[in-house]
Amino acid sequence: MSRFWSPIVHTLTPYVPGEQPRMAGLVKLNTNENPYPPSPKVLAAIAAETGDGLRLYPDPVSLKLRTAIGALHDVDPSEVFVGNGSDEVLAHAFMGLFSHDRPLLFPDITYSFYPVYCGLYGVRHVTVPLDDAMQVGVDDYRQPAGAIILPNPNAPTGSALPLAEIERLVSEHPDAVVAIDEAYVDFGGESAIPLVKRYPNLLVIHTLSKSRSLAGLRVGFAIGQRPLIEALERVKDSFNSYPLDRLAAAGATAAIEDAAWFDETRGKVMASRARLTSELEAMGFVVLPSAANFVFARHPEHAGAELAGKLRERAIIVRHFNKPRIEDYLRITIGTDDECRRLTEALREIV
Ligand code: PMP
Repeated sequence: MSRFWSPIVHTLTPYVPGEQPRMAGLVKLNTNENPYPPSPKVLAAIAAETGDGLRLYPDPVSLKLRTAIGALHDVDPSEVFVGNGSDEVLAHAFMGLFSHDRPLLFPDITYSFYPVYCGLYGVRHVTVPLDDAMQVGVDDYRQPAGAIILPNPNAPTGSALPLAEIERLVSEHPDAVVAIDEAYVDFGGESAIPLVKRYPNLLVIHTLSKSRSLAGLRVGFAIGQRPLIEALERVKDSFNSYPLDRLAAAGATAAIEDAAWFDETRGKVMASRARLTSELEAMGFVVLPSAANFVFARHPEHAGAELAGKLRERAIIVRHFNKPRIEDYLRITIGTDDECRRLTEALREIV
């Protein structure tokens, strides 16, 4: 604690190392990274950008990348905003779009960064509990709102809402920005991007960290109509910041353009998810239906903390949340087939 700190800093928790351990032989299934490497074309594009390119500042508006994203999703590059990971895109949205006299709504159980950003940027918020089946119930959002944010599929449950439900939410709240965080959508969800043309209040946020295997490069983007994108640009420009460095912009562009690699790797992840789900169910686990690159599962006879602890003793890390309603669940990232086999072998010893 320091008397020099502003009051807000006292409310913030410093990063606690532990989520990203690097140990030989560790099976790391706790942060939803993709188990497969990025496209070889990404590595080639980054290599081509090193050397003399690094002497030069990057393009301040990442036009090549925004053009590639626009071509992929059938929108104009001016309707694409890019940032250093979707976390940065989210931060800009909290600052530029969600701070209203009416509150921001988001589910109570969702991505844990949302309340952190609310604290940091002074965004008043109201949480909306998941229903009994641990799903987002769109009807529960019928209340005063300046903005709404939800991940689809939700995190950490992995459950996805059908596009028709997302459209209902967006159309029922014409005066609120509705942000759909589609970090995991490529593993079986339905993207709301095609709705952007019809709804000026819809912002869809994506990341290259999961389905494009680029968590280490830090690239995310948002798609929306011009007034929403312009708000994000104004926040960014007032920091006088570059959205992406040259390596990230080059690598991300190559990743977006390699549809074959994308389809092959996400297909493998989805097939492994189906296998892992049936193996866990055979061991007595209750597994929520997942449209993400992880599963959310509990065992009726074992506490979540106990399972996570015993897996850790066997050098396997999964995510456990010490939070009411979900304290008995484990969030398990889909790994390679070998990693999934090591996980199920360990769990057979434990349960
Ligand atoms: N949204 C959700 C729902 C997430 O789970 C994550 C990753 N943990 C992010 C956004 C942020 O991803 P990134 O900053 O790597 O793009």
